[in-house]
Amino acid sequence: MRIALFGDIHANLEALEAVLADASQQGVTDYVCMGDIVGYNADPAACLEIVRAMNCPTVKGNHDEDASGMHSLDTMNPVAAAALEWTRQQLSGEQRVWLNRLRMVRQVSDFTVVHSTLDQPTSWNYVTNRFDAMSNFAYQFTQLCFHGHTHVPRVYVKNSRVQEVPAESIAIEDGSKYFINVGSVGQPRDGDWRASYAILDMESQMIVFRRVEYDIVKTQQKILAAGLPEMLAERLVDGR
Ligand code: ZN
Repeated sequence: MRIALFGDIHANLEALEAVLADASQQGVTDYVCMGDIVGYNADPAACLEIVRAMNCPTVKGNHDEDASGMHSLDTMNPVAAAALEWTRQQLSGEQRVWLNRLRMVRQVSDFTVVHSTLDQPTSWNYVTNRFDAMSNFAYQFTQLCFHGHTHVPRVYVKNSRVQEVPAESIAIEDGSKYFINVGSVGQPRDGDWRASYAILDMESQMIVFRRVEYDIVKTQQKILAAGLPEMLAERLVDGR
């Protein structure tokens, strides 16, 4: 069993299709989605329908929540708010209901999935250092927990202490717990523009991070054609 863990797609259809093609080539048998299917980029409905048709365990991201609700976006930063307002108009009522009903936390096989962090998942806190990770570990009762939200691939390991290790290939060791950010499919922010996701191989107990090129120019053109903020197209190239 090889499981692809992917999320923060953010309505980037070209990146999503490239990741799914790569996962298929890598012999992936199962898929789990970390949420934030929509927001920022130009294909929210198409990305939602692909993930929905996959019928894979999926958790809710903050953008899924904001795009499916009717609450005011006034307190949000203007670029994110403009993209969300546009996204709301692109989705049917039925699609918004599907997004809104996604669960915050899922247990899949013997691991846990959450968009942000297991301590107060509805607060959408960002885990950017080992102290944030410690708060999560206090609520992590499985050996592995996968998440997203910061758009930066990261791995925290807890044994006698909590430390960050490079987000490269990881051999899962007995006695350690892992809190793993799989990065972002549709808007990476670690300086690398390529789509990011991870594969968990159940037999070998290995986790491998993947980076996948996609037709970024096409994605940018769609963002501009949709009248979305220009900086959303610009940031994709920089991986920011
Ligand atoms: Zn996100």
